[in-house]
Amino acid sequence: MPYDSTNVFAKILRKEMACETVYEDDYALAFYDLHPKARIHVLVVPKGPFRDVYDFHQKADADTIVGFHKAINATLRRLGIVPEGFKMIINTGTNGGQEVPHYHVHILGGQRVG
Ligand code: AMP
Repeated sequence: MPYDSTNVFAKILRKEMACETVYEDDYALAFYDLHPKARIHVLVVPKGPFRDVYDFHQKADADTIVGFHKAINATLRRLGIVPEGFKMIINTGTNGGQEVPHYHVHILGGQRVG
């Protein structure tokens, strides 16, 4: 399946749609989820056109993979949730319940997340 550049996160990355930014660098954009499932619910998306986690690890070069993971850590530091802990979720494809076909990592915290 090719990457669909009309997805909502692609529009946010192109600044065609607004978001509440938590962190941004050359590799990633982190912003608050529109329908939070916890007190803190943030999405981290890579800037490149990757459909899901598998697609990302298949196609991204090493710099992009490292840069994305460092951006996740920078987001966690900015949220101040590292000491208490957090949950990270990556929904993938139909069976994984992925709604938006642009790779994203959910960060959930600020409370005990079941
Ligand atoms: P997933 O099911 O893993 O694809 O998650 C998609 C997430 O994107 C859901 O938690 C939605 O609430 C969230 N979402 C959808 N549209 C927006 C938006 N415009 N801004 C922020 N979050 C969004």
